[in-house]
Amino acid sequence: MDPFDLKGKAALVTGGNGGIGLGMAQGLARAGARLAIAGRDLAKNREALKSLGEKAISFQVDLRDEKACRAMVDEAAKQLGRLDILINNAGMNIRRQPQDFTLDEWRLVMDTNLTSAFVCSQAAYAHMKKAGAGKMVNIGSMMSIFGASFTTAYAASKGGIVQMTRAMATAWARDNIQVNAVLPGWIDTALTRGAREQVKGLHESVLRRTPAGRWGEPRDLSGIAVFLCSPASDFVTGTAIPVDGGYSSQG
Ligand code: NDP
Repeated sequence: MDPFDLKGKAALVTGGNGGIGLGMAQGLARAGARLAIAGRDLAKNREALKSLGEKAISFQVDLRDEKACRAMVDEAAKQLGRLDILINNAGMNIRRQPQDFTLDEWRLVMDTNLTSAFVCSQAAYAHMKKAGAGKMVNIGSMMSIFGASFTTAYAASKGGIVQMTRAMATAWARDNIQVNAVLPGWIDTALTRGAREQVKGLHESVLRRTPAGRWGEPRDLSGIAVFLCSPASDFVTGTAIPVDGGYSSQG
């Protein structure tokens, strides 16, 4: 048996219509999984489906809406016939000094990055528990480990992702559900293109600080997604794995 084989498995990837989420969804599709992706932008959803296999489906949903999240998870399980894998990837950032954040901005970041992952995981748990197995992957960040002056809410949400991962991993290990986090380094996506426009010198400092000497690409995340969603990782749970070209290892 190929321990990385995902044939017959069904996966839901939030924010799977672009960037890191699409890179991971493509990896899962190549390994044989049927895919559901979720995002607000219908056009991006449609475009992404083209690279995810004939049977892939998408949901146009704002993940800040609790009811919509729960309905999406149940509908994904219904339409795919099962739900083996959940990747909580959707995320956004507002870059400001802490003293300049409004409470609404704080809530927007936390609701999108952390609360939606909590709600989707809760909803997916019911399906996985019933099936007797499941894989959940939560997307953290270098900001799960480090701080930066302009990332208060984002860093809080990404630190929370790691601790939520550990807590859920311990709660659900005996249900044969593995919950892990991935901490991407600097990856070239729409999100970081925005950061490069707003933060002077970011591009050069990422190149300087990353031992691999380059920005990551969304496809750099496909291997870890397959590993953490396949039988190869059945005894791996509660971890937070950097995929960062060595960024977090450099002193
Ligand atoms: P992108 O901006 O390319 O992708 C973000 C995804 O999230 C899109 O698919 C977007 O879809 C979706 N999304 C955002 N808000 C919502 C919402 N309210 N409801 C539904 N979907 C939403 O960014 P990345 O690919 O870079 O980011 C993906 C994840 O990786 C995020 O959690 C990010 O924090 C994390 N990350 C990224 C790093 C990087 O260097 N790029 C580094 C570390 C972590 P739509 O627009 O259609 O709603």
